[in-house]
This record gives sequence, structure tokens and C-alpha cells, in this order.
Amino acid sequence: MNRSEVSQYLRENHMPTVWCPGCGNGIVLKASIEAIKNLNYNKDDIAVVSGIGCSSRATGYLDFNTMHTLHGRAIAFATGVKLARPDLKVIVMTGDGDATAIGGNHFIHACRRNMDLTVILYNNNIYGMTGGQYSPLTPHGSYSTTSIYGSLEKPFDVVELSKASGATYIARATTFHYKLLVKYIQKALEHEGMSVVDAVTQCPTYYGRYNKVDSGPGMLQFFKENSVPLSKAKTMNPEELEGKIVIGEFLEVERPGYVEEYAKLQKRLEVINHAN
Ligand code: SF4
Repeated sequence: MNRSEVSQYLRENHMPTVWCPGCGNGIVLKASIEAIKNLNYNKDDIAVVSGIGCSSRATGYLDFNTMHTLHGRAIAFATGVKLARPDLKVIVMTGDGDATAIGGNHFIHACRRNMDLTVILYNNNIYGMTGGQYSPLTPHGSYSTTSIYGSLEKPFDVVELSKASGATYIARATTFHYKLLVKYIQKALEHEGMSVVDAVTQCPTYYGRYNKVDSGPGMLQFFKENSVPLSKAKTMNPEELEGKIVIGEFLEVERPGYVEEYAKLQKRLEVINHAN
């Protein structure tokens, strides 16, 4: 995509972004725009909802129907939008802290309901905006402003969490694998039901600096060297997979979702009301 094609989807009067030099958020944003453009969606038919955090600022820059909401509540707001306007394609742009800490319950229950949302999870393994604290996705032993001796906690694997909770499309790519990211976001948008794309991205300012890879390109190189395609990962043992980022499509199944069931209920009630 050239610059003028990307510009059509942006509120350029809100530029420049607040994002630090080398941050990966712009890469995930552009991949999302490219996926939407490839699908020829009308801008007015899309609603993008975000919570709070560096990545959640994305809604300020995108020229769709957008809502920049409360910390952890993007999925709750998006659920309301989808039920009120099922004709809209509703996308949630959220960070790892926003989606899996304060918003964790909303996340798992949207998966359980197979809510027809496309969740693009900007996963930089840390809280960026609030000062570099560790998040539920910070790798064990990694450093942050609140784990200066290394995180003692085991992180969630967001793919496994989504799968166990009931999401019906799940994929992961990093900002180094831009084309894969576009492809997976596109498939997630086309999917009916809860789709989750774990977009592993770089925060050189906090995660990188605290973990001795303090540049955007350095972190992209790290993603390149430490990512393993799912097909290869299946042949590796847990020790070999330690510290690796497994990328690929993990699940794609069909199952009736809440939006469909809700529409059926509305029809049933209409019939009952007419009969009375
Ligand atoms: Fe990006 Fe990290 Fe800067 Fe936030 S703090 S804008 S995630 S580099």
C-alpha cells in the first residue's frame, strides 16, 4: 500500500502519533488497514473500539466509527455496539494489559459467547503507557519497572486462553512477519464469531530497554530469530520451545455465536408478541 492509500483510512489531522520512535504499534495499525482495504469494506460499515494504553490510541488515528473507551472495557463496549448494530464489522484494538488483566473477564466471556468481534491484540509484553510495569503476558524472568529482578509469574499463552475460552478463529504473527499479520487479520475479519489475532509487537522504550534490546530494529531482529512456525513447533519439545514465539493459525472452526442466537430470540419474541 502506498502512502495515499493508507491516508484514506487515517485522520491525518491527529498526526503525528504519540507512539515512540521504533514502536511496533504503527506496523500493526498499517497491517489492519491493509487487511480492511483488501476486503473492500466501506469505512462507514466498520466500528473500531479500544480501551486504554499505547495501542488503544489507534482509534484516534483511524477514520472509521471509533470509540476510545475505558481501561479493560473495550470488549464490553464492543459487545454493546455489535448487539445494537449487528450489520457493523466490529473490531477491538487492545493491548496485553488492557485485554488480559483488567479486561480479562470480558475477554474470556466474549470468547465463551463466540461474540462476533475481531480482536487485534497488540501484544508488546508490557504496560507501555503507564510506565513499563509487567503484564499477564510478560515472559517469565523478563524485566520491567515492577520486576527489576525478573518476573516471577508465568504468563498466559493468549492462544491457549482464547482456545479454552471458546474463540473460533485464533492466529499469531509478529510485526516482523508483516504479510502474515495482514493475512491473519484479514481472515479474522472474514470470520463469523470471536476471532483473536495475537499481534506480537515491540515496545523498545520499556520492554526492549529493560531486556537489553533497546531499539525497534533490534526487537524485529529478535522476533525474526525467535519465531517458530506452528508446523515446526509441533516437532519440538517443551525445552526447545522455551523462549520461542510460535506463529501461525491455531484454530478456525464454526460454531453459532451469541449475535446469531440473540437475533433468533428477537424473532421468537416478535412472533409471541404478535400472537398476543
Ligand atoms: Fe510504543 Fe512502548 Fe512507546 Fe508505548 S511506550 S508508544 S508501546 S514504544
